[in-house]
Amino acid sequence: MKKLFGTFGVRRTANDVLTPEFASELAASYGTVLNNDNESSPIKIAIGGDTRTTTPMIKHAIIAGLLSSGCDVIDLGILPTPTVQYAVRNYYDGGIIITASHNPPKYNGIKFVDEFGIGLDDETEIAIEDVYFNKSQKRVSWKNIGILYNNDKIIDEYIEEVLKRVDTNAIKEAKLKVVLDCGSGAGCFTAPYILQKLGCEVITLNCQADGFFPGRDPEPIEDNLHDLIATVKDLNADIGIAHDGDADRTICIDEKGNFVLGDKSFTLVEKQLLKENDGGLIVTTVATSSAIYDIAKKYNGSVLATAVGDLIVARELKERNGLFGGEENGGLIFPDFVYGRDAALSAAKILEIIAKEQKPLSELISELPVYYSEKMKIECEDDIKQKVMDKIAKEVSTLGYDIDTTDGVKIFKDDGWIIIRPSGTEPIFRCFSESNSQEAATEGAKWGISLIEKYKK
Ligand code: MG
Repeated sequence: MKKLFGTFGVRRTANDVLTPEFASELAASYGTVLNNDNESSPIKIAIGGDTRTTTPMIKHAIIAGLLSSGCDVIDLGILPTPTVQYAVRNYYDGGIIITASHNPPKYNGIKFVDEFGIGLDDETEIAIEDVYFNKSQKRVSWKNIGILYNNDKIIDEYIEEVLKRVDTNAIKEAKLKVVLDCGSGAGCFTAPYILQKLGCEVITLNCQADGFFPGRDPEPIEDNLHDLIATVKDLNADIGIAHDGDADRTICIDEKGNFVLGDKSFTLVEKQLLKENDGGLIVTTVATSSAIYDIAKKYNGSVLATAVGDLIVARELKERNGLFGGEENGGLIFPDFVYGRDAALSAAKILEIIAKEQKPLSELISELPVYYSEKMKIECEDDIKQKVMDKIAKEVSTLGYDIDTTDGVKIFKDDGWIIIRPSGTEPIFRCFSESNSQEAATEGAKWGISLIEKYKK
């Protein structure tokens, strides 16, 4: 059982639990586990982070820990999570990303990735925890301390690589008007430049990097995107694009100002890629829409569903040579580019689809299979989550429903499904429901929440 790591890394209140001392010791533990024994050729670890006020503090502590364990460190600066993952996959032996993704400004986190840029597996995380709790970090002699380098070229390379993967001429010809909301997160350093190079007319909101996230909360949910929605409508734009704090997720607003659910943009890109490649393997989680399956069936694809977590999806994509993957929250994974969610290529690909199909986004979305969904969450202390899960699984089985326990409990009903799962990063349960009417979906999610309430007492 892991004590520190959640779904992807460690996420805590910065400088309260997540202090420089903690970060440094954890980084030295990671360096130790990487078994950096060859002193003539030290392991090279890339490091980068998002725009949070506490990122430089934590970053410097991590650099110190890594250097003390004998690793060389390459500081990539402030940049999106997928840009670090891209750099590691192509040039380095491992990586550390300092980010709390979509969480409020007081949080920060540490994500570790392997040489492919994929989040670490459970075994490696447990090994790091063992070193951390036993205080058995390797401290090399002064002669073998790692060397610190900088690489400030990686952002430009990443931008170029995104552009190579879409039909830039088609997008330029479409002359799209795009309102971009980076939420003052790491996307500020990539997204505006990519859209400019795609010939879009770009109107920016919250595209000044700021760790206080003054314009909006870093989570790109509809409640946080009212300014973006209003601006798209006021300016008659073709699309609104929002990123989360570390720019691995893209959320779209259509030309009418409608919030496009992550499931929908996932399905839209899935359809395009399956058409372009005449089929392929799609990897997703048990919490995504049935529409993913419908489209795969129609366009010669197949679907593999995993537990929730982009690193689990990414690893399956790599091992099974999959075409494309993603999650219901707007995180899309293009495995020939980055083994993790990538917001920049997601946005570029959606613009390409609008340009090539010569249809407004609302029309493209209306052509996709229609399901209705509801997402709810409820607080629950971490230490009773398992007990609550077990009791819910028992009750719904007794009621005669089919269930899937790949991750949490997914309950299949005649008109859809409900999934109840504990968050790996926060003391909450999430409950998603999908059905063929909004009423039934809302009803389903409320039922799920009532089950959690019943058993958390
Ligand atoms: Mg994120």
